[in-house]
Amino acid sequence: MGAPILDEELSMIGGEFDLIDRFFKRSSTHHNRELALGIGDDCALLNHSAQTQWAVSTDMLVEGRHFLSTVAPERLGHKALAVNLSDLAACGAQPSVFFLALSMPNPDEAFLQAFSQGMFALADVMQVTLAGGDTTAGPLSICITVMGRVQTGMALRRDSAQPDDEVWVSHPVNSGIGDARLALEVFRGTCSLAQADFATTRDRLELPSPRVQLGLALKDVSRCAIDLSDGLCGDLNHILKASQVGAEIFLGQIPRSGAMLSQPLDRQHQFLLEGGDDYELLFTAAPQHHLRIRELAAQLGLGISCIGRITAQPGLKIWNEQGQALMTRYASFDHFQTSRWGLDES
Ligand code: ADP
Ligand code: MG
Repeated sequence: MGAPILDEELSMIGGEFDLIDRFFKRSSTHHNRELALGIGDDCALLNHSAQTQWAVSTDMLVEGRHFLSTVAPERLGHKALAVNLSDLAACGAQPSVFFLALSMPNPDEAFLQAFSQGMFALADVMQVTLAGGDTTAGPLSICITVMGRVQTGMALRRDSAQPDDEVWVSHPVNSGIGDARLALEVFRGTCSLAQADFATTRDRLELPSPRVQLGLALKDVSRCAIDLSDGLCGDLNHILKASQVGAEIFLGQIPRSGAMLSQPLDRQHQFLLEGGDDYELLFTAAPQHHLRIRELAAQLGLGISCIGRITAQPGLKIWNEQGQALMTRYASFDHFQTSRWGLDES
């Protein structure tokens, strides 16, 4: 999960997803009738009753890798829960309970006070209850597991995109995606922003808003979604691979904030396509739902932009603002390998 703060080294094993496939994904000989969907989506789905399933997801934040040591503990508490709720949102699940496993070098009272305050403020808004966890001494790392309810068979899944579906992305009204990466690059010193722009992009990095209400509302119009944690190209590719389809994306339709528009065009493209840490929803829906989705955006006070369409032909094609095929290759965050996504694999 989540874009790493530090650049990664190549590994002999291959990328994060190869590693999961090779060592942790097991064949159907270990069939479990309670497990409706296992490794490979934003949440696992467990059968609960004829009407409902549990959606379950776990995500870990490690200091220096997922967050900078300078982040305010209150924001860290918010983000640790938010990135997990975002996976429930991506499956269209209603949050229920969460578990917190915390490792920290020493029991710092001020840290714990602020961290728990930030975490519970979001938990109260999302009506999700802390039900257990584990606490140990060690390097600062936070692992949260969330559980949410979804109507049986109605979860949004990565493998359900259909040719001709439109591709949509959520974002704050009058803003866009890629701002979390932009803030990170300011921290890294590779670009600069006006003070007010830095404040808003920093909020996008440190205080993501899990789109739980949107995920729940999508059940009427969509079967397929993912949350943007590793970057648009990489996350969309998970959908394309799972659904065995392709897509074309129009860069000119990808929403951008004022801060993003202040950057050179090539960097805008990089942040929009490989950004990471947005925690917005990317989903697909049949064109007949176009107007309904626009209405949903207005009802939820959210931006939702149509940025492309699903194709029967495999591969990801990206068209620039002038309608030309983009030839640059963009990376997706991978904890063990910076994989490159071909923009036209055909
Ligand atoms: P997300 O970004 O939505 O949190 P990830 O990219 O972290 O998802 O993980 C992709 C899939 O691989 C998920 O279904 C996740 O549950 C699974 N996964 C990740 N790490 C492991 C692991 N060590 N063992 C088993 N499954 C894993
Ligand atoms: Mg996810």
